[in-house]
Amino acid sequence: MKKFKFYSFILSVVFIFSPLLSDETRKPINKISCLDKGICHQLFSMDGTIVIEFTNQNKTIPLTVIVEYNDAQNLDLEAGRKDILLISPNEIRSTDFIQISDPNKRWSINYPFRFYQGDITQEMDADYVYRLPFRNKHLLTQGYNGIWTHQGKNALDFDMPEKTPILAAREGVVTDFADHFTIGGNNPSLKAKANFVTILHEDGSSAFYGHLYPKGVQVKIGQIVRKGQQIGLSGNTGYSTNPHLHFQVMKPIIQDQGVDEPTVPTFFQTESSLKDSLVEQNFYWHEDTPLSEIPFIAKDYIKICNDFNDKGEVFNCTSVRQKGNIVVQLYVFKPKIREYEFYVYSQGESAPILKWKIESQKDWSKFYTYTSSSNLNPGKYQLVVRSENLELDPIPFVVKK
Ligand SMILES: [Zn+2]
Repeated sequence: MKKFKFYSFILSVVFIFSPLLSDETRKPINKISCLDKGICHQLFSMDGTIVIEFTNQNKTIPLTVIVEYNDAQNLDLEAGRKDILLISPNEIRSTDFIQISDPNKRWSINYPFRFYQGDITQEMDADYVYRLPFRNKHLLTQGYNGIWTHQGKNALDFDMPEKTPILAAREGVVTDFADHFTIGGNNPSLKAKANFVTILHEDGSSAFYGHLYPKGVQVKIGQIVRKGQQIGLSGNTGYSTNPHLHFQVMKPIIQDQGVDEPTVPTFFQTESSLKDSLVEQNFYWHEDTPLSEIPFIAKDYIKICNDFNDKGEVFNCTSVRQKGNIVVQLYVFKPKIREYEFYVYSQGESAPILKWKIESQKDWSKFYTYTSSSNLNPGKYQLVVRSENLELDPIPFVVKK
């Protein structure tokens, strides 16, 4: 997963000037200097004072600038002074005046500053309810503080095939994206090579949508997007073991020692709740899906094999060996206590050759069940799963010697 980063730039500028005559007109001391992301700065003097002016050239993105001062000479500057300026799109804002102590002597100042997209001085709306960033349903493979790559992070991974449309979970303005990366894999060195979109929200928080498809970003920087608007296509770029969407919301917080940028937990509207906290290994449907249309299990999520792989997962084997076990892995969309019955039929036969049952626990969204395959002769078979009056389409498999 790519580590999310807010834009912060530190610039260190020193100006040393000859004596200034007292003058009531505002005079630029240096040339206006513009950085990436549409921010410009310039130093002015007027009537024995100096002031730093910042311009936000963005048409839709507000900026927060934090200016600190050091190495000031011959200036009446309080130790540790820090100015925080919120600059609306297309706006110019100045710092408070700094008095020149002795107008007949040289003065100097160094004003490193950092800037952030959005108003980071705001309190986040912690009760905001997001929409799921996709249509239909997807499995949450890793939740908040997940053990693989989300340790200490409030991030969500939704399993989905490449090129699944990604929708904005909340309205906002696009502040950044990348879509030129083409590779992905289970390798931390690919962390910074995920395609992504970031969307700034009204309350100063930002959502990050990661691992998008190469050239799969469908919005531009500065574009205002509606909640639910399609912003791109999912992919598998960067540090990613399988196609999925990484979603996280960050809210910068101004601390005494700089700015902290923690990920924050969020609520979602889902098929079953107006305000849901998502739990790992559960499926979630878009809120418009009627509950009656939601099965609790689907054939696509049943896998059969002889054994687990090194990740503790069951591969979808097309054939199993005659000797040993048959392992069946199931995903349950909405876990609760249920009895599941398993039947194995030889192709064309109406009486099952094997049958067994298992009672699932209320929190089992994924579970395994075994049976011995030693009674099965080489040939073609079908597995049928039944539960609560639901019978899934037969799942074919082959037994080999
Ligand atoms: Zn992730």
